[in-house]
Amino acid sequence: MEPISILQRYFGYDSFRPNQEQVIRNVLQKKDSLVLMPTGGGKSLCYQVPALIFEGLTIVISPLIALMKDQVDALRVNGIAAAYLNSSQSRNEQEAVFRQVHRNELKLLYLAPERLMASDMQLIGFLKRLKLSLVAVDEAHCISQWGHDFRPEYRLLGQLRQEIPEVPFMALTATADKLTRADIISRLELKDPPSYISSFNRENICYKVEPKRNSFQRLLDFLEGNKKESGIIYCLSRNSTESLAAKLQAKGYAAEAYHAGLEKHIREERQEKFLRDDISIVVATIAFGMGIDKSNVRFVVHMDLPKNIEGYYQETGRAGRDGLPGEALLFYSYADVNKLQQFTTVENNEEQSRILLKKLDQMVLYGNLRSCRRKFLLNYFDEEAPDNCGNCDICLGKYQYIDGTILAQKALSAVARLNESFGAGYVIDFLKGNTSGRIREWHKSLKTFGVGSDLSRETWSGYLEELIAQEYLKKSEGPYPVLQLGPKSRAVLKGDETVMLSVRKEPEKAAGQKRKTAGYAGAGNLSAGSEAAGNRTSGSPARRSGNEKDN
Ligand code: ADP
Ligand code: MG
Repeated sequence: MEPISILQRYFGYDSFRPNQEQVIRNVLQKKDSLVLMPTGGGKSLCYQVPALIFEGLTIVISPLIALMKDQVDALRVNGIAAAYLNSSQSRNEQEAVFRQVHRNELKLLYLAPERLMASDMQLIGFLKRLKLSLVAVDEAHCISQWGHDFRPEYRLLGQLRQEIPEVPFMALTATADKLTRADIISRLELKDPPSYISSFNRENICYKVEPKRNSFQRLLDFLEGNKKESGIIYCLSRNSTESLAAKLQAKGYAAEAYHAGLEKHIREERQEKFLRDDISIVVATIAFGMGIDKSNVRFVVHMDLPKNIEGYYQETGRAGRDGLPGEALLFYSYADVNKLQQFTTVENNEEQSRILLKKLDQMVLYGNLRSCRRKFLLNYFDEEAPDNCGNCDICLGKYQYIDGTILAQKALSAVARLNESFGAGYVIDFLKGNTSGRIREWHKSLKTFGVGSDLSRETWSGYLEELIAQEYLKKSEGPYPVLQLGPKSRAVLKGDETVMLSVRKEPEKAAGQKRKTAGYAGAGNLSAGSEAAGNRTSGSPARRSGNEKDN
């Protein structure tokens, strides 16, 4: 039967979505493939349709035990013979499935990867003797250490592959940059797989970054007027999910925490409540969300900096599945960058750290970006994009440009004073006059020491990143990058060049004013006394903005 007839007959859809048919035609020729489609793009049909056309059994590897039953039930409702094997089943249940397999009664068998490991890998031997038509590896990024959700049990799939080299493999994921893709291909030993990459653009999601200062108040401002809307708020630690959920509850929000340290029945209950709209906000670690298909999530907030763009994009992608406007807000701070850098170097060997820090660097760039965020994100996944998307804080004009020549001179001369031998963190300490003891005594005699004490670390961090982007500064290579003078620095230090830097327009906070669905009330107005206003008179270092707190 033709793929399109299968689609219509078993699934009741009229036509294929972009790439689905190409993927299916490729696998029908018994070839390997790599399928990248955003969440909700329709990856499942890419293996389900061929499974029904092929004679033998299709194995689907999925890490989402909690969802397997639903997926299989949904197939059965459509009259498709499917079953699953995972650790949640009793021995009897599992044996019943094995009998079905033996009698060739099944078209699709869903398997949790850890099941391959159980009973001395007997299952691999069992699978080897079957007539398999296809192995579909869902959430294939889990096989890669460079992905954002590495699962060691996925590594067994490399072994499975070697045992059944003639069976085509299809790797599917919604989140993999170049490096992760290459890793998937090599771990699964995919043979010249065509990559099918769908557009990852999520037009309806508006991307925003705010400095992480007074972030709870900023969060409340953001949520204002959205009290009933569904959203996910991500935090780095389990403790902070609990404390933030409690603070939100105290402000009248129906919010609950969610993290892997909670008992299973509590997690299930909270997830269920969220899906049913009994609670509107889940404050979670990244343990929450994979496989959760809730269409009306209106916003995703990151209170802390994610480790990489892959994870960030996957998480923000949970907003606006229904196509209605969604918002993705990230609170960015230099302190988070520092913390994650330290975690990364402590937790990994040198080679791993090098790669992971590079990924983190991209997240830092994103946090300090002064051009279209969507373009940056899509480019990260090798997708072309126009310069201006019209739906991110940058394109919506949330930043304005100031004459930053004096700020640039301060930063550049600090770098020069420090002999171009220190990283950004230290340069900021120097600018702020934050060093202590003998070093302080020594630094105090230097002209630039402490001249930037009126600005926060985040602000300086942002400016330094901008100065790097504009080639006034550069960052050295290697594990401990230092700041150096860039090719365009001389003209600035001599006073021959004007430097433009951007500052965020703070939303005007009129009492009682409700936030509009997209954007801020009163966007475009600079509130008096804001950091932006202060910087315009950047010559006078003492003008500190009233609401700025240092971390
Ligand atoms: P993914 O695994 O890529 O996140 P799914 O395979 O779960 O996405 O599909 C998401 C939704 O889109 C499902 O409800 C599915 O039935 C629907 N869908 C997939 N392909 C089509 C199609 N060709 N036409 C209409 N709906 C589709
Ligand atoms: Mg899926």
